Amino acid sequence: MSRIALLSDVHGNLVALEAVLASLGPFDRLWVTGDIVGYGPDPSDVLALLRARNALMVAGNHDLAVATGQGLEMFNEYAEEAARMHREWLSPEERDFLAGLPQVSSDAEFTLCHGSLRQPLWEYVTTSAAAGATLKLARTTHCCNGHTHVPVIFGSRDGRIALSLPTQDRAYPLEGRLLINSGSVGQPRDGDPRAAYAVLDTDAGTVTFRRTSYEVHETQRRIRRRGLPEFLADRLAVGL
Ligand code: ZN
Repeated sequence: MSRIALLSDVHGNLVALEAVLASLGPFDRLWVTGDIVGYGPDPSDVLALLRARNALMVAGNHDLAVATGQGLEMFNEYAEEAARMHREWLSPEERDFLAGLPQVSSDAEFTLCHGSLRQPLWEYVTTSAAAGATLKLARTTHCCNGHTHVPVIFGSRDGRIALSLPTQDRAYPLEGRLLINSGSVGQPRDGDPRAAYAVLDTDAGTVTFRRTSYEVHETQRRIRRRGLPEFLADRLAVGL
């Protein structure tokens, strides 16, 4: 293992996922920290593509809500409407697959979850204290999560945890203990509409955050054509 593609929150945005996979070049492993479905126009195709690429996936809150209806009451109206539609569009086999995803998974020196290790489906890790709690629970050196749709890196050195907003295309050393959130492929919320992801290079000992442009208009067209809430199309243009 050396080059790992780290993706999160694809949210049924096939156009964005295809652009990311095309820009990645060769990689040895593909990890996805949850929310494969929810919000976007192509949940089945996204799931099929990730399965075809042998992705290691953990469940997000949207995956479980779409698969089982669990947690729908926690969603805002747009998220709930999309999750109910996805539930109808997916086959029983696809729903079973999503329902069977682990909430936490480990590979080598990394533990993967969607929210946090305290609450794998639901916690938004936005503070050093929350990041520290997750790193404390991890049995591996590093953790990778998602859920906030904002790329961020929390580093622990000498007992202190610091948050950094990563600079794109800069290789950060895998030093100390890190909690890495690669941002969202399918619905970024940091004001940059481009798809966000990261590349881990375990031979070089680095993580690099990347952005890739995709045809936002095409995803918006599909959202409208499938009858999803208009708001879910609008937000993609501004990355919020
Ligand atoms: Zn999400």
